[in-house]
Amino acid sequence: MYTLIDGKKTSAEIREEIRGEVEALKKSGHRAPHLAAILVGHDGASETYVAAKERACREVGFDSTVIRLEEDVREEDLLDQVRRINGDPAIDGLIVQLPLPEHLDEQKVIETILPEKDVDGFHPVNVGRMVIGLPAFISATPAGILELIKRYGIPTEGRHCVVIGRSNIVGKPMSILLARKADPGNCTVTVCHSRTRDLAAITRQADIVIAALGKAGFLKGDMVKEGVAVIDVGITRLPSDKTKSGWKLYGDVDFETVAPKSSYITPVPGGVGPMTIVSLLKNTLLAARKEIYR
Ligand code: NAP
Repeated sequence: MYTLIDGKKTSAEIREEIRGEVEALKKSGHRAPHLAAILVGHDGASETYVAAKERACREVGFDSTVIRLEEDVREEDLLDQVRRINGDPAIDGLIVQLPLPEHLDEQKVIETILPEKDVDGFHPVNVGRMVIGLPAFISATPAGILELIKRYGIPTEGRHCVVIGRSNIVGKPMSILLARKADPGNCTVTVCHSRTRDLAAITRQADIVIAALGKAGFLKGDMVKEGVAVIDVGITRLPSDKTKSGWKLYGDVDFETVAPKSSYITPVPGGVGPMTIVSLLKNTLLAARKEIYR
C-alpha cells in the first residue's frame, strides 16, 4: 500500500507556519515581508499565477505589489523597474513572471535582479551558490519537492534517484540538490532527457523517480520497480468532456499503473503544484530576515 503525498495539506501547514512567523516578526518591531511581482502583458496563465501569488501573500500577512507593464514595453523600461525595486529597502523579494514577450531578453532581466531579492532563485549567483552548497534562494518547484521528501520522511541517503528532465527550473536543480551532501540528499542521481536511450531500463533501477518532462502519463507501471517513491512534477492540460471547465490536468505519471507498485506517490493535481507558491513565500520570508545573504 502506498502513501499518497498530499501537497495541498502540507502546503496549508507550511502557510500556517509562515503566518505565525510573520506575526512574530511584526511583534518584534519589523515590518511585514514584502514581495513584488512584475507582470508584462496579459497572458491568461501568467495573470492566474500572479493573482495566486498575491492571494497567498495576503493569506500569510505579507505585503505584495504587482507592477503591470504593457506587452510592448521597452526592455530598458522593464530593467529600470527592476533596478528601482532592487534599490527599494521596503521590498524584500522580486519576481518577474515568465515567460516574457519575445522582444525581451529573459536572461538579461533575471540577471538584473539583485541576487539578494531573487526569491525565484533563477539568478546565476543563486544557482551557482546552490551548486557549491552555499546558502542560496532555491527555485520554488525543486524547493517544494525537497520539502515534501523531508516532511514525508522519504529515505534518500544512498538511494538511486532518476530525474526525468533537465530544465533549468526543475530537472537540473533537482538532480543537483538530491546529489548534495545533505539531508535530504546523498542520492546517486541519474538524469534522463529526450536523448536518453532505453529510459525504462534506467527508471526500473530507481528507488526514487522525479518525473519532470511534461508528457501526460509518460511513466507507466512497467517502467518502475516495486517500492519506488514517485514525484510527479508534470502538468499537462488536456481537453475533457467530463469536467465543467472543459479541461483536465494530467501529470507525467500514469497513476493507475504506477501507484500500486510505489511506496510514496504524488497526485496531480494536489501534489507538487501547491508546494511551489508556498516555497516562494518561504524564500521571501528568508529574504526579509536576511537569512541567505547576511
Ligand atoms: P521543459 O523545460 O520543457 O523540460 C522538459 C525536459 O524533459 C527536457 O529536459 C526534455 O529533454 C525532457 N524530455 C522531454 N521529452 C522527453 C522524453 N520523451 N523522454 C525523456 N525526457 C524528455 O519543462 P519544465 O519546465 O522542466 O517542466 C516539466 C513539466 O513540469 C511540465 O509539465 C511543467 O508544466 C511542469 N511544471 C510543474 C510545476 C509545478 O509547480 N508543479 C513547476 C514547473 C514545471 P531535452 O532537454 O533533451 O529537451
